[in-house]
Amino acid sequence: MRYPRMTINTKQLEENARTLKNLLQENGIETLAAVTKVYCGNPEVAAAVVRGGVDYLADSRIQNLVRLQEFELPKILMRIPMLSEVDDVVKYADISFNSEIATLKALNEAAEKAGKNHKVVLMVDLGDLREGFYKEEHFYEAVELVLNEYKNLTLHGVGVNLTCYGAVIPKKYILDELVAYAKGIEERYGYKVEMVSGGNSSSVYLVGKEDLSGINNLRLGEVMVLGTESAYGELMEGLHPDVWTLEAQIIECKEKPSVPPHEDLGRDAFGRKPHFDDLGVRKRAIIAVGKQDVDIEHLVPHDEGLRMLGQSSDHTIVDVTDGEKDYQVGDVLKFHLDYVSVLSLNTSEYVEKVIES
Ligand SMILES: *Cc1c(COP(=O)(O)O)cnc(C)c1O
Repeated sequence: MRYPRMTINTKQLEENARTLKNLLQENGIETLAAVTKVYCGNPEVAAAVVRGGVDYLADSRIQNLVRLQEFELPKILMRIPMLSEVDDVVKYADISFNSEIATLKALNEAAEKAGKNHKVVLMVDLGDLREGFYKEEHFYEAVELVLNEYKNLTLHGVGVNLTCYGAVIPKKYILDELVAYAKGIEERYGYKVEMVSGGNSSSVYLVGKEDLSGINNLRLGEVMVLGTESAYGELMEGLHPDVWTLEAQIIECKEKPSVPPHEDLGRDAFGRKPHFDDLGVRKRAIIAVGKQDVDIEHLVPHDEGLRMLGQSSDHTIVDVTDGEKDYQVGDVLKFHLDYVSVLSLNTSEYVEKVIES
């Protein structure tokens, strides 16, 4: 068996997707986009959320959408496109999110060149201060261009993103503003958009609590893969929190002092001045996984007696003195993961991804 490995319980992931799909459906939100970027568009993982009944596959990176081409579901590029990638966007994404007229123009030209129609969702910035039209007149200028000038583009919807940069928590009055934009398009141009996309895993806590009429789509990553909504960080009822597990192998296990036995201390491998608590001689394990794969702050050992000590690029040091067993070289330590660690472990080529079903 190869280590480090990350196991992915795809049965639980499928159940998370289905539970969320049902929750949205029961509350009038017609479609669910599964966000695949946290697993880099890995098709074996995506297959689980597809079985769970999601309606779209959505990612930030075109390379990930390329990996998802085998699925029939419409694909969304959620990060607003680079001008340098518009040809790939019309090729690999059915829908893209947009907030720049120059990019819409380039997408229209790329779509024309490819003999295709490309769907666009216009993003509005309702205060989180990442992407989106901030001024109403700029938004409607783009709407008019897409409806009247850019013949190879179809206006598919409007969307908002929250709780990413500005940490703005979605509230009904904010999502009502998004619905007002969709209504504004209908009133001014007699055009009804198909998608009104009310955000990410930070919006899901509102479902069933507030009247979200007018919102008909959410894009869910974190809550689907980890079970936690991201407005308050709460585990949602009925969702599995431990779809992902890191397993790393011990390559050294020895008793050593807990403080370096020298006075001349400089900086560690990352240029920081370390701090040591003197707990005397302790039994320390080194596992073969490092900061290049995952940050120690985002690993929680299954064995609650273990204490995470430190890390360099390729090594992680764990105090195993108070562990539940007498650890030896070759033993494997397991860890619970969060969004940051799942993302970086999926991105590391050095970590084996093991599908469990
Ligand atoms: C990443 C992302 C999402 C999904 O966010 P989660 O918090 O993981 O649900 C939704 N929309 C956009 C635009 C994103 O970039």
